[in-house]
Amino acid sequence: MEKSQPQITIIGAGVSGLTAALTLQNAGYKSTIYDANSFVGGRVNSVIKNGLILDQGFQVMLDAYPAVHEFLDVEALKLRKFVPGSIIFKDGKSYRLGDASRDYSFLWSTLVAGVGSLKDKWLVFSLSRKLKQKTLQEVFASPETTTKTYLEEYGFSQKMITSFFTPFYAGIFLETELATSSRMFEFVFKMFTEGNATIPAGGIKAIPEQLASKLTAGSIQLKQKVTNVLGNEITLENGEKFLSDYTIVAAPAGDIVPNLPKEMIPWHQVTVLYFETDHAGFDEAIIGLISNEEVLINNFHFLQDVFENHRIVISVSVIKKHRLTDQQLAERVIKELREETGIKATEFIQLHHIKKALPQLDSLNYSMTASETQLTEHIFLAGDHLSNGSLNAAMLNGKAAAQAVVSKIESAVLL
Ligand SMILES: Cc1cc2nc3c(=O)[nH]c(=O)nc-3n(C[C@H](O)[C@H](O)[C@H](O)COP(=O)(O)OP(=O)(O)OC[C@H]3O[C@@H](n4cnc5c(N)ncnc54)[C@H](O)[C@@H]3O)c2cc1C
Repeated sequence: MEKSQPQITIIGAGVSGLTAALTLQNAGYKSTIYDANSFVGGRVNSVIKNGLILDQGFQVMLDAYPAVHEFLDVEALKLRKFVPGSIIFKDGKSYRLGDASRDYSFLWSTLVAGVGSLKDKWLVFSLSRKLKQKTLQEVFASPETTTKTYLEEYGFSQKMITSFFTPFYAGIFLETELATSSRMFEFVFKMFTEGNATIPAGGIKAIPEQLASKLTAGSIQLKQKVTNVLGNEITLENGEKFLSDYTIVAAPAGDIVPNLPKEMIPWHQVTVLYFETDHAGFDEAIIGLISNEEVLINNFHFLQDVFENHRIVISVSVIKKHRLTDQQLAERVIKELREETGIKATEFIQLHHIKKALPQLDSLNYSMTASETQLTEHIFLAGDHLSNGSLNAAMLNGKAAAQAVVSKIESAVLL
């Protein structure tokens, strides 16, 4: 029997909003997504330029994320896997450091690497065993401290923290103080030890595009900014108003829902720069890190190591704050690459600043329950910022909000 169709609106065609729409569709309900951008995916975006795949901000999907297997056709994404380790450049030398329990090629290089002591390397092993035994619910119920304090209390040496954990996790948390919650550290560490960091063969944008492709044609309205959501009335920037029985705000809601505190979330930012280079790459998909507090570069990788038949291009991420113009920043990155790693960047291709990359949250949860997403009679919330800055949380919160709408509709029918 065809279900009665209430008017359901989703604001935001990021991964969270798309997952909400998909969950509703799977339950037999139509929805319409409105997004201010001209593309789907929000923060998950790639630009394809002259055959180059330029992700707008280096990000990876950890294939151990539970939500990935619930919502994505992982086979179709043809995931490119990073090896479980990194190459660290420090004081003119480079060290290949990684998880030898998953990739034996890391065993010797990790043991002899001049990054941390043997005790540190044993502690990495013991931490990965400990976290494998902890459920994700237990991780997010653990007491919270900063990642830095957590690592110190676990017994890691300052040398290991500064030479490895700081550059590696700064690239993930997009902050260099390791001030991010220890829950996020445990979550990410666990996901890294249970799976791989991956990027789809078509670039990171293939993730939201796959979600969008599963939705009924015409259910996404792009370049449609919502300015106000008041009860069951929605106003678009162009002045148009319409009614919506249920609205899922899959974006920070403070700016569009009256009576909510204005958006107070501080955000971590990052800049990604792309250059052609004469360096052939590492012959494996691996993340390069520079362990030197003076440099701006945090991490880099070669696109030809990740994507098949790709031109020789290096992607560099800068997290630290600075006052340089774009041109000065590009010049500084070229200089640092040459001095710290010996890599010569030749042609500058593109630079992209992401001011709102990851929400800076004081207290993290794994995901919202369906009932927690309900704000008012008509309005429900979704988005990663309600839980933790990850694709996993974005998807799970989209699903939770959609489930809340479905149970609201179906309980109304029963009355
Ligand atoms: C550089 C970078 C690196 C990252 N690294 C990783 C990583 O390695 N692994 C990982 O798991 N996660 C990573 N993330 C986080 C991940 O991308 C996010 O968790 C996820 O994309 C959040 O999805 P979302 O739908 O909640 O939010 P968003 O993607 O921000 O989507 C919100 C959407 O709402 C739209 N919108 C906002 N306001 C309005 C309005 N008024 N009207 C209409 N539309 C509106 C926006 O245009 C946007 O499309 C990274 C993010 C960035 C930017």
